Amino acid sequence: MTEEQGYNRAMVVTAHPDDAEFSCSGTVAGWCAAGWEVTYVLCTDGSKGTEDRELTSPQLATIRRKEQISAGEVLGLKDVVFLDHPDAYLEPTLELRQEITREIRRHKPDILITMYPARNLDGGWGFGHPDHIAAGEAAMSAVFPSARDHLTFPELLEEDLVPHKTREVWIVGHPEPDHWVDVTDSIDTSIRALNEHVSQLSSSPDEIDDSMRKRRREVAKGKPMEYAESFKRIQFDRPRVSHNREINKSKG
Ligand SMILES: [Zn+2]
Repeated sequence: MTEEQGYNRAMVVTAHPDDAEFSCSGTVAGWCAAGWEVTYVLCTDGSKGTEDRELTSPQLATIRRKEQISAGEVLGLKDVVFLDHPDAYLEPTLELRQEITREIRRHKPDILITMYPARNLDGGWGFGHPDHIAAGEAAMSAVFPSARDHLTFPELLEEDLVPHKTREVWIVGHPEPDHWVDVTDSIDTSIRALNEHVSQLSSSPDEIDDSMRKRRREVAKGKPMEYAESFKRIQFDRPRVSHNREINKSKG
């Protein structure tokens, strides 16, 4: 991971407990093993993810909170923050944006991982749970410009939460990823973390192991890696050619 040298803090903003374990926990496990401080921010309470008619939403939320904390312990997370919005009803409101901005300013991530904030009409996993779309949109709006600008959400300054510039945003579930992380050394830990989400898994641990390895092997196809996770990577500091400058140049 030479490209991220100098970084040692990351944040993962997702909608539900288990989203990160399915999408980026190999990357997170690798960072934690390398001594990074990684914080999860869960936007919803996960209180709708069951087919069990006997289970109430508050009971399920309690179970899923415990499962996510256990998964975080397996990975070695610094913190797990629950914003506790009701599952399935998440919207990218200013309230949610402010809550995520608060966590960004508290934990100062170099890299923030979040969810693809649009519909993927090709189907599949990325089809777009409305909570995933909302979480991704709110997280990106929190990174830029809210966490950066002191005049946005001025009440956060009164909490001594000063502006913070996140260096990169990585998107999971993007239909055209452009960044692959080798998770060969961390896949065992990531699968153990996923297996903590007992209420969400209908397959046996062996089947989960097989499917996670199969998926990550497919992602690694054509790369010099056995297992990989993929992202759309947005780097804010990367020097880029100014369109206007190019136009001016061509005018001589
Ligand atoms: Zn989800």
